[in-house]
Amino acid sequence: MGEAKRRKDFVLKGPCPCASGKPARLCCFDGRDWHKPPAVLGLKTLPSAERVEKCYMKKLGSCEPPISGEHIISDAVCRVLMGDGEFSISGLPWLEAGEVKIIAPPKANCLCRKHNSALHPLDDAALYFFASLKSYLERDAGSRHALISGHDLERWLLKTAKAAAVSKNLARGRERLSGAFARDTTLLDMLDDPRHWPEGAGLYCIMNTGDLTENTLRFQLQPLTNDDDEIEALAFNIMGFRFVLLLEAPDVNRYPFLQGARFRPSRFLISYPASTNWLTLSWEDGKPHEALTVQWVQNRQGART
Ligand SMILES: [Zn+2]
Ligand SMILES: [Zn+2]
Repeated sequence: MGEAKRRKDFVLKGPCPCASGKPARLCCFDGRDWHKPPAVLGLKTLPSAERVEKCYMKKLGSCEPPISGEHIISDAVCRVLMGDGEFSISGLPWLEAGEVKIIAPPKANCLCRKHNSALHPLDDAALYFFASLKSYLERDAGSRHALISGHDLERWLLKTAKAAAVSKNLARGRERLSGAFARDTTLLDMLDDPRHWPEGAGLYCIMNTGDLTENTLRFQLQPLTNDDDEIEALAFNIMGFRFVLLLEAPDVNRYPFLQGARFRPSRFLISYPASTNWLTLSWEDGKPHEALTVQWVQNRQGART
């Protein structure tokens, strides 16, 4: 057996990097490409029940009380981000624009128990994304690979922004925003099924290949609003990676930073002098997607340099 074939065979039989526990060949690898399909949430097919007034999905008529006490950022993701107790957030009403404060994220109280649990597949995907990213950034421990559906990450970011918005935890400068989204009418559709996202909407990475980035263990969220004060995009800083999530088709005149931004990156290559770690995002929009290579500068205590 040739070396290339041996390597491929090894990958095919090895565990799938999507963390399903199945061998890759029976899961997300066809011998050439990796593909993890987005989670099916079935929000529209939940059995009809009641409407819980404070649940933002009440119009589906499938609520189950009580209201869930989840934090704005899913609890498991919070634990990853907090790690050693450090957790910073910006974009909150009591902070100046650009000001960052280290806090415990507030509770959202905006979903009933049923709808909160219907979104759990997105929490699981985000947890895997954050935990993998954190481990790749903090430990140069050989070459590792994680695979996540990009649509699940996008929908988790949207869900998180929605929770921050309905619980009135978003602001521009010190001015509290109403929490309305430009796409409020279709927001549930967008959460339910990635095919409901408008053309050109989605995740943009506003970093370039070769950028040197500091490992900052933080999650920042800043809303971008239209003339009617409705949220039409969100800027995120995830452990030093900078993203914009567009809920509408892109307008480069309005957001010049989108010029040259990478739409739905296919992979983050986090490179150390001796190893490269892959975080692969899979997409189902039929478009070509580029990978992004980031060289990591370690600045955290205890981390290797
Ligand atoms: Zn898999
Ligand atoms: Zn509900």
